[in-house]
Amino acid sequence: MTDSKGKVSVWAAALQDHYFHRDAGVPKSVAKQREKWDRENKRRQQLLNVRLPKINAPKKAASIPIMLEPDVVLDKVSLAQKMGILESPPKRLNPSEWSEIKERAKKSHAMYSNGVECAICCEPFAAQSQVVLSCGHSFHRNCIHAYERHTRSKRCPLCRTHNYETLVTSDAKLAYYNDAATTIQSVWRMWRCRRVYLQYRRDQVPKHPLLRKQFHLDKLHKLNQTLDLQMRRDKRDMDALFKEMDLSIKMNQDAFDKFTKWYPEEDDWDDVLDQLYKRNANPLDESCSICLSILSENRCQDGVKNARQQRKIALLSCGHVLHDLCISSFEKYSGVAKPVCPICRCQYRRSLFPA
Ligand SMILES: [Zn+2]
Ligand SMILES: [Zn+2]
Ligand SMILES: [Zn+2]
Ligand SMILES: [Zn+2]
Repeated sequence: MTDSKGKVSVWAAALQDHYFHRDAGVPKSVAKQREKWDRENKRRQQLLNVRLPKINAPKKAASIPIMLEPDVVLDKVSLAQKMGILESPPKRLNPSEWSEIKERAKKSHAMYSNGVECAICCEPFAAQSQVVLSCGHSFHRNCIHAYERHTRSKRCPLCRTHNYETLVTSDAKLAYYNDAATTIQSVWRMWRCRRVYLQYRRDQVPKHPLLRKQFHLDKLHKLNQTLDLQMRRDKRDMDALFKEMDLSIKMNQDAFDKFTKWYPEEDDWDDVLDQLYKRNANPLDESCSICLSILSENRCQDGVKNARQQRKIALLSCGHVLHDLCISSFEKYSGVAKPVCPICRCQYRRSLFPA
């Protein structure tokens, strides 16, 4: 009787121990292993500290610490399983087998990319605690735990594998953090690029004529706005300012015309003649600078027999007088569209000297 009583007590203790450890999660036997994983996890955290790029960052970017759980194998063989009271898992997996299973799980869950869901709760893995079963299926840790308690058995909800082993891992969490970091960085880069691009658009004149026109219109519009604002602030009269500007523009235009208007209008020929007579009372007593004969003699030594042309005398807008035939021949042989006066090198317009 005492023997059977003692046996029952041991069985009860073994079963209690089995269920206590199963429900508590991490068995004591993995404490040492856990220390090792803690160290490994610390090292991984240092590698995973996410920092924003330092380009023109106004302050030192804050690092985001990532808390990862160490990989822990649950379901160590309990005393009850060793005693044969409860069925034990068929074969213990070694670390290399576990890493193979993890890789397989990663591939089947598309590397835990965004939107991959736990098959029990149909929610994304995100940053929640996650387990991989020895059959290669992956669930939220809480979900599989609740499922086991509800069904009172260890059968994979997807492939019905019995008595699987469970590994707590952080692959999904890691992928989730990486995705988040990538998203933040891409948003930041996009914002930065947009700023640089807009600055470029503000500074660079476009090559396309329409865009260039719009560019200058925008600039002018901005200038006008600034001017208007300034005028309002100073309470100055806008019309008076524009009058001043008109006057200034007219003065500039006049100065500019003096250089660009190289020939007189029809009415200005009298002025040219006046200037000529002021310099020389008898301009026709001078010699033609091309053929070197006296203009008033009305004959050239170039042998042209056309009497009508020989008699004509040309007045240039620069105030020089030459034979009409001489200057015509000069223009013809100079070979340029707008020949210059042979005496003063100015561009000119030509008229006949009044009889
Ligand atoms: Zn779930
Ligand atoms: Zn399974
Ligand atoms: Zn001549
Ligand atoms: Zn001249």
